[in-house]
Amino acid sequence: MHCAPLRTALSARLDGEELPPGLTPRLLDEHLAGCAGCRRFEARARALSVRVAHASATAGGDPATVEALLAGLRSRPVRPGGTARGHQEGNTGEAAAG
Ligand SMILES: [Zn+2]
Repeated sequence: MHCAPLRTALSARLDGEELPPGLTPRLLDEHLAGCAGCRRFEARARALSVRVAHASATAGGDPATVEALLAGLRSRPVRPGGTARGHQEGNTGEAAAG
C-alpha cells in the first residue's frame, strides 16, 4: 500500500470527512502501525487541526480572523505535495507492512 493515498485519507479522517473508496479506518490504523513516516504525518496533521480549532475559538468566530489564521496555517506543507513524487519517503528502514 502506497503512503500517498493513505495520507489523503488520514487528512480526511482528521477533518471529519469520508474516507476515499477502498480505505477503512482499520486499514489506516494498520498502516500507521507499520509506517513511521505516516505516523509523523498524522501527528503533524492532528496538531494542525488542533491549532485550527484553537484559532477558531480564539478568534471568537469572526470569519475574517479565522480565515487569516487558516491562510497562515495552510502555507505549511502538511498534505502530500502531489502524486508524482509522493512515494519517496516513508518506506525506508521499516518492515514492510502489507
Ligand atoms: Zn505510510
